[in-house]
Amino acid sequence: MFEQIARVPGDAILGLIEAFNNDTNPQKVDLGVGVYRDANGNTPVMRAVKQAENRLVENEVTKTYIGSHGDPRFGKVVLPMVLGAESPVLAANRASATQAPGGTGALRLAADFIASNLKGRDIWLSTPTWPNHLGIFDAAGVTRHNYPYVDENNRLDFDGMLATLKTIPEGDVVLLHACCHNPTGFDLSREQWDQVLEVVQARKLLPLIDFAYQGFGDGLEEDAYGVRLLAENVDDAIITSSCSKNFGIYCERTGCLILIAKDEESMLDVRSQAAITARENYSNPPAHGGAVVIDILEDDTLRGEWKSELTEMRERINGLRRDFVEALKPYGLDEQFAFIAEQRGMFSYTGLSPEQVDRLRDEFGIYMVRSGRANVAGFSTENLPYVAKAIATVVKG
Ligand code: PMP
Repeated sequence: MFEQIARVPGDAILGLIEAFNNDTNPQKVDLGVGVYRDANGNTPVMRAVKQAENRLVENEVTKTYIGSHGDPRFGKVVLPMVLGAESPVLAANRASATQAPGGTGALRLAADFIASNLKGRDIWLSTPTWPNHLGIFDAAGVTRHNYPYVDENNRLDFDGMLATLKTIPEGDVVLLHACCHNPTGFDLSREQWDQVLEVVQARKLLPLIDFAYQGFGDGLEEDAYGVRLLAENVDDAIITSSCSKNFGIYCERTGCLILIAKDEESMLDVRSQAAITARENYSNPPAHGGAVVIDILEDDTLRGEWKSELTEMRERINGLRRDFVEALKPYGLDEQFAFIAEQRGMFSYTGLSPEQVDRLRDEFGIYMVRSGRANVAGFSTENLPYVAKAIATVVKG
């Protein structure tokens, strides 16, 4: 039976990792993989996470099931982090939290929830978007469409985006990246979010906001502007939050599906559906990452340490963005690449062509995705002069 099943190509990023590992160039630079890196190129366990884990090992008394919504304390700490401690949505008890296996798990729950409960509603994704968005909604059987996000000059195409949003049929779902847009790094300004809200209200769209990088852009509160604006000004919304990046617990698979409804009664209705979706997928979410997040956010000292470490990470990334543009100055390319310092998060659409990306890899051992997406966290004070010189070489022909 199995012999008729064809092999599919592996993940492009995994191929890139393998090629990077096999490259013997001592100056090689990895700008491909989507994880945070410190100045030494490592993705360390955050100090607050280590402390919380030590405490958990000491104090854990059971490994019994935690239920389809996860640990109830998880929602109690994640909801105020995402929606704001003083959120009117929380005061009105119209937000439900379901702990999920990572942001990906939360997105799949959202996709299944839409497929089961909002039949006939299609989803609209930015072009480009995180490639897994396509697979997740296809797998759940939700029909996808696109809205433009980047123009031919490699800049945010907000006019194009808004024009398409205005054509979306009433009731369809629009997926928005809360901050640190993956793969482009182009985020909406507050004024642009305000305009998106107007269209969402006018067309009665259902916003699904993917919040995978809270704290990686401008700050924990600042990055939530669009999320909170929409949550507070529409009846129904879906938010998928990930703790992978901001707590550095990638492999612990920790995320949250947040369903916001018109009122508490309606919230309890949709919440009951989310539990069924979770049960049918994996029954209960993994507990460990959630327990770490609860421990950190409930303890003022640990919370303070976590916040300052997150600030260090964010400032390192934003500093590297500025340093990169500075390093291009000697080649007269600083103006052409000034937008890199304005983008946010780990990723940048550099505007480099696939051919230029290939040359960087073959001639300089610098690895990035062929779309020209670079992980800025792969830059370092040591490698920036080398990377700048290589980019100047391929850009100038
Ligand atoms: N959404 C976006 C835009 C992402 O970039 C990612 C992670 N790369 C996710 C969701 C999923 O994150 P997680 O690792 O928590 O599943």
